[in-house]
Amino acid sequence: MSVPSVEATGARIPLIGLGTWDLRGRSCARAVEEALGLGYRHIDTAAMYRNEDDVGQGLRSSGLKRDEVFITTKVWSSDLRARDFERSARDSLKNLKLDSVDLLLIHWPNSSIPLKETVGALCKMKREGGARHIGVSNFNPALIVEATTLATEPLVNNQIELHPYFDQSKTIAASHKAGMSVTAYSPIARGRVTSDAVLSRIGKAHGKTAAQVCLRYLVQQNIIVIPKSSRPERLKENFEIFDFDLSAAEMKDIAALASPRGNIVS
Ligand code: NDP
Repeated sequence: MSVPSVEATGARIPLIGLGTWDLRGRSCARAVEEALGLGYRHIDTAAMYRNEDDVGQGLRSSGLKRDEVFITTKVWSSDLRARDFERSARDSLKNLKLDSVDLLLIHWPNSSIPLKETVGALCKMKREGGARHIGVSNFNPALIVEATTLATEPLVNNQIELHPYFDQSKTIAASHKAGMSVTAYSPIARGRVTSDAVLSRIGKAHGKTAAQVCLRYLVQQNIIVIPKSSRPERLKENFEIFDFDLSAAEMKDIAALASPRGNIVS
């Protein structure tokens, strides 16, 4: 099965990717290889995860061609001065053993460093070919407007915490208005959705698990999901979300689980 994708200002991003936070060493490389074997074509990493070399290893072991897989990485918030940003992004390429990533993101904003300087460095990485596309992560509506005003290259993605318990409607609307796609991180609320009564009830009607219903709820809104798992059976489960549809009533029931303070990360 080819993975459905989202289009944003010239970028085509697979709707599901493998999250790799907390995965390291052999188990990280194995999860990446396993996911790519199952049909995943998008891997999410970051300099801060200290696993880019393992992600690169998994990618090479998969035997897939470079242009068949979409790789995202991120520059951490302590490296947002122009010179630090460039060094971090170049180190990421070295660790991944790649000439370019498909998407390079500012991992978290840092209010003590002028955004103009960071966005300038981000755009420079794209112009110089180190990143095919660029974007941001953990940017709120005000920062989205500021970043898009400063950018000289299109910003195609905002990666934010997003799952049925957290109302992110304002940030999603602001991202879309700015031409950015949205990626949901912690999309299954770090596993908490598995015991949810509403998601389990809906899942039963479709022969799916609560986690699959949760992921389906997001991709059905054209939101990219990057669930993390190191277990083959869960990698498979999380990928099998493109063979059923949720009804308007089911979507509404899931939307009702959200609250403005339902975040679990930060
Ligand atoms: P997730 O919502 O993806 O949940 C991961 C947890 O759920 C793991 O403990 C995993 O355990 C478990 N799990 C996975 N699949 C299932 C399943 N089908 N049923 C039950 N449990 C399951 O949380 P993350 O915080 O890891 O978010 C995903 C990715 O988003 C990260 O890995 C990272 O790439 C990115 N991220 C980005 C951030 C940012 O600031 N931009 C911040 C946080 C995350 P197991 O491995 O044992 O299966």
